[in-house]
Amino acid sequence: MQELLKRNKGLHRTILIVDDECIEREMLGAMLEDAYAVIYAENGAVALNTIRKEKQTLSLVILDLHMPELDGYSLLKIIRADSELRRIPVIVLTSEKEAEVSVLQLGAADFITKPYDVPDVVRARVSRSIELAEDSIIIHETERDELTGLFNKEFFFQYGRRLDTQNENMPMDALVMDINRFHMINEMYGRNYGDMILKQIGFCLHEIVCHTGGLACRFNSNCFGIYLPHVTDLREKLPQYISNICDRMGDGKVTIRMGVYHDDGSGLDMEQRFERAALTCRKLRNSYTTCFEFYNAELHSRELYSERLINDIDKALEEKQFKVFYQPKYCICGNKPKLTSVEALIRWYHPEFGIIMPAEFIALFEENGLIQKLDRYVWNVAAEQISRWKHEFGIELPVSVNVSRVDAFNPMLGTILDEITKKNGLDNGKLLLEITESAYTDNSQQIIDTVNQLRRQGYKIEMDDFGRGYSSLNMLTALPIDALKLDMNFIRNICDNVKDRRLVGIMIEIARLLEVPAIAEGVETKEQMELLKELGCDVIQGYYFSKPLSAEDFRMLLKEELRGEAS
Ligand code: C2E
Ligand code: CA
Ligand code: CA
Repeated sequence: MQELLKRNKGLHRTILIVDDECIEREMLGAMLEDAYAVIYAENGAVALNTIRKEKQTLSLVILDLHMPELDGYSLLKIIRADSELRRIPVIVLTSEKEAEVSVLQLGAADFITKPYDVPDVVRARVSRSIELAEDSIIIHETERDELTGLFNKEFFFQYGRRLDTQNENMPMDALVMDINRFHMINEMYGRNYGDMILKQIGFCLHEIVCHTGGLACRFNSNCFGIYLPHVTDLREKLPQYISNICDRMGDGKVTIRMGVYHDDGSGLDMEQRFERAALTCRKLRNSYTTCFEFYNAELHSRELYSERLINDIDKALEEKQFKVFYQPKYCICGNKPKLTSVEALIRWYHPEFGIIMPAEFIALFEENGLIQKLDRYVWNVAAEQISRWKHEFGIELPVSVNVSRVDAFNPMLGTILDEITKKNGLDNGKLLLEITESAYTDNSQQIIDTVNQLRRQGYKIEMDDFGRGYSSLNMLTALPIDALKLDMNFIRNICDNVKDRRLVGIMIEIARLLEVPAIAEGVETKEQMELLKELGCDVIQGYYFSKPLSAEDFRMLLKEELRGEAS
C-alpha cells in the first residue's frame, strides 16, 4: 500500500532531466525513476520545448550547465524570466565549484555535483526542492482571495505587521469598507450580480493600493480592509475613492460605507487600528446619509460602554438590578382628575455605573434583540405588581407596559403575555400594551395582524409617541388601537407655540374620529394641563401629577388616592 502511494504520488510529479550526455541522463534517471515520472531532453532547445509543453505538470527540471544549442545558464535565465514557467524549480548539475554561486544567483533551487553523490542524497535534494516550490505555490494561492484577487485576512495582517516592523516610523491609516445590505443585494439580484460587485470593488481597491503603496484585503463576504501610508488630506481624498468605487459598480443599486482610523501618532498596532476602523464602520450601519466617518475616541468609549451593557444584561436580570418604576395617568374628563392607570418604566441600578435611564440602553437592546428578554422581565414584574395591589387595596389598576417593535414581530408574543396574566390571575384587559407609532410604519401589515390577534385575546393597545412618525390618515383608520398617546415633543411648547397647539388639537380630533381616548404625556405644568383639557384631551401623564415612582413610593401614592376617593 505504502509502495503504491509512493508510486502514485511519484506519477503525479514529473521531472525533466536535461543533459547532453546519454550516460549521465540514464544514471540520474535510474536513481529517480522509482519515485517520479522522469522525462529527458538532450539539449537546452529541446528542453525548452518540453518545458513549455509540460508546464502544467512539470514538478522539477534538473539541468546540466554545458550543452550544445542552448546551454544551461541561458535556459535557466529563460525559465526564471517567464512568468508562466517561473514556478518550476530548477536543480543545476555542475562539476565546478565556482558555478554554484552564480547559478543560485540566477534563481536555481539547488545544485547537484558531478560525479553524483550516493543516490539517497540526490533523491533528498530533489524531493526537498519540489516540496519547497509547492509550499510556496500554496502560500501564494491561499494568500489571495479568489474572487477579488485581494489578500485574505490572515495574510493581510501577517504581511502588514511585517511591513510595519520593517518601516518602523511609517504612519499608516486603516480603512474598513462594507457594502450596505449586501445580503439583500444577493437575494434581490442574484449571486452572480453580488460576485460582480465584489470583483469591481476588488479592482478599485487594487488600484488604490497600487497608487498609494498600501495593502488591501477582503475580510469576509462583504467587508474589506485597506492599509494605507498616512496622508493628511485623506478626508478630502476619500469622496473621490468612494465615488470611483460607486461608478465602477454601475447602476447605483449598491452603496458602501467606510470607517477610517486616521493615524494620530498614538502608536497602535495594525490590528488595533483596524478594530477602530471597523467599529466606526459598524456605527454607520444604520445611516442613510453618511457614507464615511473618521474614528474618534468619544465614539470608541461610547461603543465600549454599549458593549459593557450588553455583556452585563444577563447578570443584571439575575441579580434584579432592573427596577420597574410607575408613573400614574389621570383622567381629566371630570371635575377632579382621577387615577386611571399607570405606566411601567424601567431603570437599571448598575453596580458600577449607578442608575442608568432607558434612553441609554433600550435602542441598543433593540438592535440585538436583547430587548425581548428585558421586556418580558418588565411585563412579569408589572403583572405581579398589579396582583399585589389588588390583594392589598382590592382594586385592579391597569398597568401599561412598553412593547418594543422587536417584540411585536415575535409570533409567540400572545402566548407569552397570556402566560404572564394567567400566572398572576389577571384579566388580560388590565395589561395595556404601548406600541410606538413608528413600529406601525416599519411594517404595517405584520403589526396590524399582531395587534388584531392581541386584541382578540383581550389586550388593550395604546399607540405611543403618536405624531412622531409618519402615519398617513388613511392608514390610521385601519389601525386597531384602543388609545392614542400623543408624542411628548408637541406638549412641551404647547403654551407658547401656536402651531404645536394646533397640531395637538388635530391629533385629539383624530382620536375622537377613531373613537379612542387621547392621552398626553410629558405634562409638566398646570397651564399645559388646562390647555389640554380645553382641547379635549382625556388622559394626562407627566411630572405635573407625578414623576415615575418606585413600587414602594407608588404604593404610598395609591393609598393617598384611595383615601381621597373615600372622603
Ligand atoms: P416613553 O414610553 O415615551 O415614556 C415616556 C418617557 O417620558 C419616560 O421616560 C418618562 O419618565 C418620561 N416622562 C414622563 N413624564 C414626563 C414629564 O413630565 N417631563 C419629561 N421631561 N419627561 C417625562 P423614561 O422612563 O426615561 O423612558 C424613556 C423611553 O424608554 C420610554 O419612552 C420608552 O420608549 C422606553 N422604555 C422605558 N421603559 C421601557 C421598557 O420596559 N421596555 C421598552 N421596550 N421600552 C421602555
Ligand atoms: Ca410608553
Ligand atoms: Ca411616549
